[in-house]
Amino acid sequence: MARTATAVIKLTAIKKNYLYAKSLAAPAKAIATVKANAYGHGAIEVAKALTDVADAFGVACIEEAKELRDADIQAPILLLEGFFTADELTYISENNLWCVIHSQWQLEALQQARLTQPINVWLKMDSGMHRLGFLPDEYAKAWHQLTEMSQVNNIVHMSHFSSADDINSSFTAQQTVLFIETINNLPGDISIANSPAVLTKALTKTLTEKLTQELTSREQWVRPGIILYGACPIDDEVLAQPLIPAMTFTAKVISQRVINKNDSVGYNALWTAEKTTKIGTVSIGYADGYPRHAPNGTPVYINGKQSRVLGRVSMDMMMVDLSMFTQEDCIGFEVELWGDNILASKIAKCCETISYTLFCGLTRRVSRRYIT
Ligand SMILES: *Cc1c(COP(=O)(O)O)cnc(C)c1O
Repeated sequence: MARTATAVIKLTAIKKNYLYAKSLAAPAKAIATVKANAYGHGAIEVAKALTDVADAFGVACIEEAKELRDADIQAPILLLEGFFTADELTYISENNLWCVIHSQWQLEALQQARLTQPINVWLKMDSGMHRLGFLPDEYAKAWHQLTEMSQVNNIVHMSHFSSADDINSSFTAQQTVLFIETINNLPGDISIANSPAVLTKALTKTLTEKLTQELTSREQWVRPGIILYGACPIDDEVLAQPLIPAMTFTAKVISQRVINKNDSVGYNALWTAEKTTKIGTVSIGYADGYPRHAPNGTPVYINGKQSRVLGRVSMDMMMVDLSMFTQEDCIGFEVELWGDNILASKIAKCCETISYTLFCGLTRRVSRRYIT
């Protein structure tokens, strides 16, 4: 038996989640965000599975776009941070990549570029996140500059929410109003919604009638990421319910023993038995991407039953409670770390992180298996 640390990925779930996101945002089109190797799920496999439904794909850089083009993915690909150096522009124009422009230096580089085909630009506004983009009072000038460039074809207005995952925050509405007011006299499609904004229908919820009209008179692009993979970025069962977890991350029990009352387990003896306890060792650790800071009691799912992590997670192994299997030989039992029975967002909450980091943190030692 080879060591098993496996992420089984249901591609049909990703397709269903994409279509669900689109249905929530209808009639908007949707960028399927597949940056960071599709949040650890495998960018090529995910893009292929979405090929006949996705309007476009979103990636962080040209290397990620090239990976998709080399795998014969034909749909438009949006570079979410645009180009990092001007020499990328040739490939961008020749391969139908769409390009975010967020800074003055990019505008100038674009103006100086000699391109065979004009490119589609997504002009980014900093509506309050203060990460990327032109401030509202610089925005119209940048837009006018772009409209005059022969290197530029279509221009989409774009911004990004900082707090859409916090349903009690008024900041999302504030950003939306600023965004819509700033582009008021500038024609073009718009794009601002990420996963939490799609789930909560943040754009249509809080606007005045006039701004809603302004908004709906334009074509919209939403940019779902994490929800494609079936994880909910908001701690809310109703919002999470329609999403289908795409990844099931599993390993196996490789050793079992019974320890005495007051015996402790693992590095730094972080867990101590209060009574005689059967425990098991699982072939998974932080070098696979299971979080080292998962505390005692973090849930795992073993052979159909809820169990828990005991002691410190080590590099290649961790220990779990097997007291629900006193009679059985547990060697070879499958242990679900997250998946259908234990949501990744639940593990993330236990570990004071987000499902995004769990998915992106899976290392190459984990074998990905795909189900279509
Ligand atoms: C990653 C990213 C998204 C997707 O975010 P989710 O929260 O995963 O939906 C959308 N827009 C931009 C600009 C991003 O960088």
